[in-house]
Amino acid sequence: MSTSDIAGRPRRGFLRPWRVSVGARIPEGLPYYRTFPIPMKALRNPRCLLLESRWLVPRHFDGISLGPIVLLRPGVSAGLIAHELVHVRQFWRRPFTHGPRYLLSKAYRQACEVEAYRAQLQAAGRTPSRIANLARYLATKYRLDIDQETAVRLLSAEDSPR
Ligand SMILES: [Zn+2]
Repeated sequence: MSTSDIAGRPRRGFLRPWRVSVGARIPEGLPYYRTFPIPMKALRNPRCLLLESRWLVPRHFDGISLGPIVLLRPGVSAGLIAHELVHVRQFWRRPFTHGPRYLLSKAYRQACEVEAYRAQLQAAGRTPSRIANLARYLATKYRLDIDQETAVRLLSAEDSPR
């Protein structure tokens, strides 16, 4: 993969398949299109649109899902993409209530993030240091009121949270 493709030299044609980092990491799905100024890729499963942009993603984040739309910083890891696609699946399970519940319910938000971080670990490989790292995010970034130790336990548990 290469992030330089995004800022790279101009190419002929509009809506021309374009190999960039997200496209290179997600083999299935529809072709990756260079839709100026934001490259994007449509996926069938889960149904969503991945947009790659360093400007649209909020600071201190590498990716964010807004329902079926996923914004990714260029060059993010396969693990992070797996994480965001779990949130897309969660959205499609409850298209009308996922967003409000995520914002309002601590328990729901925790269940969503634990599921997403477990998928991220699955995709990236479960090393103790990675578990510790992601557990730190889980414990600090989502207003869950859990400590690091609890977060490690949640991410380490073998069985699925649902
Ligand atoms: Zn998440």
